[in-house]
Amino acid sequence: MRSISKIELFSVSGDFRRSMEVISQLEFVIMTKDTATVLTELRDVLALPDLEYGTVSSYKGKTKLLIHLEEEQAGFFRKLYTTTGSSEFVQKYDAKISIGKEVNSEVDIFDYFGFEYIIPEMREAGLLPRIHDARFEGSDLFPEDFKGCFHFHTNYSDGSNTLQEMVSAGIAMGYDYFAVCDHSKASFQANGLSEERVFQQKEEISRVADALGVTIFHGIEADILRDGTLDYGDEFLNNFDFVVASIHSRFSQNKEDMTARIIRAVENRHADVLGHPSGRILLERPEFEADFDKIIDACKANDVALEINASAYRLDLDWRRIYRAREIGCKFSINPDAHSTTQLKSVEYGIRIARKGGMDRNEVINCLALDEFRQFIRRK
Ligand SMILES: [Zn+2]
Ligand SMILES: [Zn+2]
Repeated sequence: MRSISKIELFSVSGDFRRSMEVISQLEFVIMTKDTATVLTELRDVLALPDLEYGTVSSYKGKTKLLIHLEEEQAGFFRKLYTTTGSSEFVQKYDAKISIGKEVNSEVDIFDYFGFEYIIPEMREAGLLPRIHDARFEGSDLFPEDFKGCFHFHTNYSDGSNTLQEMVSAGIAMGYDYFAVCDHSKASFQANGLSEERVFQQKEEISRVADALGVTIFHGIEADILRDGTLDYGDEFLNNFDFVVASIHSRFSQNKEDMTARIIRAVENRHADVLGHPSGRILLERPEFEADFDKIIDACKANDVALEINASAYRLDLDWRRIYRAREIGCKFSINPDAHSTTQLKSVEYGIRIARKGGMDRNEVINCLALDEFRQFIRRK
């Protein structure tokens, strides 16, 4: 779009702009007065000879692409508005009538209708009941607020990079401190750490921390067993600074057993974070059956942060549950669950999902300064 000089304004829109976890098509809104020239150039640049405005095309045979055309600025922002919000949201916050004034941004549209501005990510029907609650007025969370990088894997379990490589990559991204969380012994399929290898890793952590001059906490992603206990036992868990408790097996327990299992894990005094709380893999495996309201209540009661697992395959906790968790004052941990240095960048997706829930930086433990994080892990 940038390469086409006759395009005066353009923006991505639709599900992508609203930060949906699954995107069915990519939508753009463009403004130009030279509609014919721009269409020719777009067809050329995209190698789509049949491209038409307002009609879905198939880009490279796999991505649906829709380009909306507007010739006037007011129309551009109105189209951006109506194609960004969910259909229920746009119906409720109807901006279809023509606006008889100058429109220089979407803010002007909200103004015109007498609404507070709502960030694109939050233009969802589910937000409407909370729209006058100050806690849901937007999000002040940005990547530069992140100081602590937690829940990533190394080649000690099933990651493909060494601790030194992972931490070096994290330092380059601007993180101040780290908590490596490899798999625990019950995750044998992921080369989980035996007790003996936990002590080996402890030595490696202090060697790498010295070499790189940075603080690395010894964390673990501990398996929640069938009965809700964690797989190392209470005594041994004292060896870790930070515990992410996660389910990796027996997803098909009934709702009652699964709920009790997770709550028991959350009540474990070592638990700091409930990892990927619903177990879903997007487009592949649904959430397991559990009473998530009760689980969220237990996280609040036991001061355990809910993970927003930022892997693009998970984005779990689901953003629809973030509203309720925030309402009762839960804390969150937004983690890459990276198995390689490149996957550390996934945090960006987690932040998009958190913003969709209206999250602020003071609710996210990764935004704590190092000394505040030390207090957090000693809190119980
Ligand atoms: Zn996991
Ligand atoms: Zn993990």
